[in-house]
Amino acid sequence: MIVVLKPGASKKDERALLAEIKRLGYKPHVMRGVARTVIGAVGDERQHKSLEALAAWPGVENVIPVQKRYKLVSLEAHPANSLIPVTTNVVIGGPKVHIMAGPCSVESEKQLLSTAEAVAKAGATVLRGGAFKPRTSPYEFQGLGEKGLKLLAKARRETGLAVVTELLSEHQADLVAEYADILQIGARNSQNFQLLIAAARTGKPVMLKRGLSMRIEEWLLAGEYILANENPNLMFCERGIRTFETATRNTLDLAAIAVLKRETHCPVVIDPSQGAGRADLVMALSKGAVAMGADALLIEVHPNPSEAWSDASQQLSLEGFSRLMTELRPFIAAAGRE
Ligand code: PEP
Ligand code: MN
Repeated sequence: MIVVLKPGASKKDERALLAEIKRLGYKPHVMRGVARTVIGAVGDERQHKSLEALAAWPGVENVIPVQKRYKLVSLEAHPANSLIPVTTNVVIGGPKVHIMAGPCSVESEKQLLSTAEAVAKAGATVLRGGAFKPRTSPYEFQGLGEKGLKLLAKARRETGLAVVTELLSEHQADLVAEYADILQIGARNSQNFQLLIAAARTGKPVMLKRGLSMRIEEWLLAGEYILANENPNLMFCERGIRTFETATRNTLDLAAIAVLKRETHCPVVIDPSQGAGRADLVMALSKGAVAMGADALLIEVHPNPSEAWSDASQQLSLEGFSRLMTELRPFIAAAGRE
């Protein structure tokens, strides 16, 4: 860390700071400039107590951390990209770009099974579908709950697709983990740290959505909770953030792919459906995401989008999804992926 002293800092202030820096286990190096003095405190910031409290000490202008605050998710800790084993034929983060597809919400057996069969036929490997739904209004459809989980398990048996579904509450961690192959942590819960810990402890792979107003550093730190709780199987999912723009439901931050690929070894998933909130933009955003290095896509598909019980405007029809898969193929190949 770097401690910058105020121009008028006294020798007494400086002596007290040097003693405190040493007491906390760092090696201080004093650099005297023309106008002010800077102390470099050498030591691992993640192994010693933080020096940030020194910012309140007499004579200190500010304290600047040098190291990143996350460690286990960082590429420094793990230079090779992580492979997330989901089922025997689904490994995320390897050469294959996996497509996760299915309805926003599980509504009925017929709706889910017809979607599952169609997306499997078109080449998806993971079935998505919410059984517990985080809805903005309490009067909107909240999901079928355990009945929805059972339908997802049935669809998995019939199609061989793996299942990703949202975990909304830490009290349901064991229940949802019993049915899911991947636990989705939703945007509204991405900094619910007790939920993250409960999800990690199930041992299932976790897909962590980005919060609506979350900085990438905060997202990486939320992901750190999964790895710090002894679960190495984490993927990040960008689903759009809140901005001033109203042409799309959210602003899908594709730049996050490029940033995450420099910062973390964990796979990156893109959700263009929540990202745009419009079915007509899903194709273009999916192509862009694949070209930029996304490891998987999460796409909402419904047999009759206009009658969907949630997110009707952004779900692709079965035909629309099949077209997307065909048009995506050259982009996947051009990105050097399968
Ligand atoms: C969803 O995937 O349907 C969903 C609710 O996602 P998010 O948490 O990103 O809004
Ligand atoms: Mn949705």
